[in-house]
Amino acid sequence: MIPLVNLKKQYLSIKNEIDNAINDVIDETAFISGKYAKLFEEEFSKKVGVRNCISTANGTDSLYIIMKSLGIGQGDEVITVANSWISSSETISQTGAKPVFVDIESDFFSIDSNKIEEKINKKTRALIIVHLHGQSCNMSEICQIAKKYNILIIEDCAQAHLTKFKNSFVGTFGIAGSFSFYPGKNLGAFGDAGCIITNDDNFAKKCRMFANHGSLVKHNHIIEGINSRMDGINANILKVKLKYLSDWTKKRVKNSLTYKTNLSNIEGVILPRTRPDTEHTFHIFQIEVNKNRDNLLNYLLSNDIQVTLHYPTPLPFLKCYSRYNYKRSDFPVAFEKSKKILSLPMCPELCESDIIKITGLIKKFNEKNRYS
Ligand SMILES: *Cc1c(COP(=O)(O)O)cnc(C)c1O
Repeated sequence: MIPLVNLKKQYLSIKNEIDNAINDVIDETAFISGKYAKLFEEEFSKKVGVRNCISTANGTDSLYIIMKSLGIGQGDEVITVANSWISSSETISQTGAKPVFVDIESDFFSIDSNKIEEKINKKTRALIIVHLHGQSCNMSEICQIAKKYNILIIEDCAQAHLTKFKNSFVGTFGIAGSFSFYPGKNLGAFGDAGCIITNDDNFAKKCRMFANHGSLVKHNHIIEGINSRMDGINANILKVKLKYLSDWTKKRVKNSLTYKTNLSNIEGVILPRTRPDTEHTFHIFQIEVNKNRDNLLNYLLSNDIQVTLHYPTPLPFLKCYSRYNYKRSDFPVAFEKSKKILSLPMCPELCESDIIKITGLIKKFNEKNRYS
């Protein structure tokens, strides 16, 4: 079987270091936030060149904490993108605000910046943009729009660790960036974990307070908050893995090139494009298949290749949003693309022979489909 991500192989490659990191935390019983979370926060801030990092329990909470700390709630609208994981929109509803979706660009699958302005009104407070697949959104245009209408940018970087737009790391363009360290993410913990980054010291304090029951000093609750902290074991595991992240990212990029070489000039298969002036970190390697996508999906699965869809249903068309009665024609690009996309296995541990096997099967499927 070729898995979508090979967490076992990654663990075995650094087993001693990870096991020692876990044992250190147990020896000191520094289980919740504390010393090891602080050390990881310092290392992560340094890595992406930002003043503050606030560790949290997961990437979904990070988005919620950011919005609550901005005072977003009932009566507000927050714009986000039609093609993402549910966290990007459910957290908006959870604050009491209304999620307003924008269709995607057909080239890069990110929020279409040409369609943002028509969704802005007096209630619009913020824009949650998502750097999907490891690909940066068009930050020049998005920053311009946000400035023109005086709305805040929140960057969902759950899939974009070390992704760059014009030499700056994503997560540093808006008021704050939120990261997920879900195990399958480019930097993954051994459980749920996340963080928030921001260059605004005052805002960082607000987020830290909200994530810690509304207090910075024990028993001194300034506001009501939530319990969303990183545990020490995961913090220390992430600190070890962070040292390897640049190398692992290079391997992802190398694997993307091997895929592209082996899949070039196949009729009906469109390869992922990288936006000019950006560094794509390939959290996901997604192709587009013009015909018979579901048959190819099943063919690969039956050959033990773990492929999947990101995402089978665009957010506005999920049952949980049926109250808004959206039509296909409201988000035509996201709708059309959801029928064509296919995510192939992608991780640093994937080797060339795996990729050749996968692309060989795709070619074989394509030949059969052409002549039968
Ligand atoms: C994974 C993910 C999240 C949520 O992160 P969790 O740590 O699982 O809560 C949010 N947004 C996007 C785009 C994601 O891929």
